[in-house]
Order: sequence, then structure tokens, then C-alpha cells
Amino acid sequence: MNPPVQMGVRYGREEGTDIFRDMPLGRLMTLGYEVRQRRLPGHRVTYVIDTNPNYTNVCTTRCAFCAFFRKPGDPDAYLLSPEQVVKKVRIAVDRGATTVLLQGGHHPDVHLMDWIAYIRAIREACPTLHIHPFSPAEYVYMAGQEKAHVRDILGAIYNEGIRTIPGGGAEILSERVRSIVAPGKASGEEWLETCEIAHGIGFKTTATMMYGHVESPEEIVDHLVRLRELQDRTGGFTSFIPWSFKSGGSALGRRRGTEAHPAEYIRVVAIARLLLDNFPHVQSSWFSENIAAGQLGLMAGADDFGGVLIEENVLKDAGHDRAATISHVKTIIRRAGFEPVQRDSLYYPL
Ligand code: SF4
Repeated sequence: MNPPVQMGVRYGREEGTDIFRDMPLGRLMTLGYEVRQRRLPGHRVTYVIDTNPNYTNVCTTRCAFCAFFRKPGDPDAYLLSPEQVVKKVRIAVDRGATTVLLQGGHHPDVHLMDWIAYIRAIREACPTLHIHPFSPAEYVYMAGQEKAHVRDILGAIYNEGIRTIPGGGAEILSERVRSIVAPGKASGEEWLETCEIAHGIGFKTTATMMYGHVESPEEIVDHLVRLRELQDRTGGFTSFIPWSFKSGGSALGRRRGTEAHPAEYIRVVAIARLLLDNFPHVQSSWFSENIAAGQLGLMAGADDFGGVLIEENVLKDAGHDRAATISHVKTIIRRAGFEPVQRDSLYYPL
């Protein structure tokens, strides 16, 4: 089947699902690429040099898809001090990192003042480094910890000079899916509401999606349409970043044992470019899938290649261990026919 598509038309849930599910992959990639060229003509593909030192792996939320978390008291549970985080960050800065993406588990003994201590310590040690901290799911958890509204937690972090936050924890926004893969985590509505409040305060955020587990094509498209609706209201999303579920080491992985094919990733990138007509950027990543899928994602409409991560732990704990140097990432982009451009966390070229 080859559902008809007109450029410039905004597709809803039903037509979007038909296109996502039924359109031949080559045609879908071409459409995604055409939309990218209309929005961002040319062949520039951005990347950022960043690091992701998780300040703790302790988490009481215990998402079924997660191989990273440890229960409080587990032998390999850890909570880093601000000094320990700074030590890791300094190593990354020495290697060229311009951004630190700081996230952790939902630790029952970490409070807002601890978050602020991390931010201040990093800022003091590395004043030019962009700090990109804590996902919407973590803000919701922290609001519970502090018995405060999430607006107050976001406001306190904004007052520390933070201007961007990562859009992690969105997974699939459908409550049916979340009740299976992440029943203890912030709901889809809470995730969206937190982003909306953050955008209202003045933050820019990314939006993510982790697919390839129990969701349906309809739920993937619904996720994208809900992001688009929020972006219409706020304009606060900089980029859409998808990745597939990695089955290694998690309860869900033990139950399912399968992962999405890389072709699904390219399909997701292309449909995102088509449906997210109000998003400036769509990411395709060598890191979260593989090099070929990342390159093909660029041919399906993505314009950003994500981070050259100096440190990453979450996917590594799920058996997905990738490493590449800055020059390797630039070569990967060039070999796909694009021009690599280093960017900052607001997607401006450096
Ligand atoms: S995904 Fe995040 S919230 Fe869920 S268990 Fe892992 S660390 Fe905790």
C-alpha cells in the first residue's frame, strides 16, 4: 500500500498511522528528506560533544525496560558527590565536551539542594560548560520529594541559570504502554505538563521517544501528535530524539527478548520529520542504533546526529556499548553525504 501524501499538509493520527505503518520504506525516507530540505535546505548535519555522568544509579521507580537502576542498598548502588561529578566532567571537558547532560535515578535521599549543589560545583569548576540537567520525569519525582509543585522545582533550577533540560522519560506517552513498561514513573500527561511548564518559564527542552517494546503503530503516531500539539502551544521543543528499546538486562527484555529492527528506526525518524512540522530538529543517532541506521536516518529527514558521548551508562548497562571519536563521527556524517557541524545545546553552530 502507498498512502497518498501531499507536501505541506498536516496529517492527523489516522492518516499518520497509515503512512507510518504502510508506506514503503524508500518512499517514506524520500518524503522525510524532502521535508527536511524544505525546512533546513542543504546538507549540514549537527553534532554535539557531550557527556552523561549519571550522578546515581539508585532508583525506586524500577521501570521494566531499565537495566541501569539499582535498589537502595544493592552492592553496586552508588550516589556521586558533587566533587566526584566534577572530576568526571573535567575529564570530558579536557576531551572537548561543551555540554553535560546530568541525569540519575529517582533516589529517595536526593533532594533539591543536592541537585543545586551539583549544578554549582560544575559551574564553578567549568564555567563555560553548558549544563543540561534532569529529565521531566526526574522533576516530577523531585516535586514529590520536596512536596512542592513541579513549577517550583523548575523555577529553582532556572534561577541557577539553567536554560535547557533534556526530554528523557517520555518513552511512549500512552498510559496503556506506560502501565506495562514504566508503571511507577511520571505519567504521559505529567511528562507533557512538565515540559509545558518548563517552556513557559523559559527553558528549551528536547522531546524523546523510546519505542520497540509493547507499543502499537497508533501509539507511536499518537505520541508524535501530542508532542506537535504541545509545540503549537509553546514552541519550546528544540529537537525530537528517538531511540529503540535495548533488551539486555531488563525485566522487560527477559520477558520479550526481542528488539526493533533498525529499519523501524528509519521509519520512526521519517514519520517524525513528516508529522513534527513545528519541530526545528530531528535527530538520527549513530550511538543509539548503529552507524548505518544513523546514516540512513539522515537520508530520511534527520538533520542532527546527536552527541559524541564521552560518558554514557544507561544504554551500556543494557548491553549497548558504543564508542566513537569526534573525528570518527565527522567521517560517518561525511560518508553519508553530509557536512558535519559542531553545535551547542541550543543547536547553534559553534
Ligand atoms: S528508566 Fe529512569 S526512572 Fe526508570 S528505573 Fe531506570 S533510572 Fe529509574
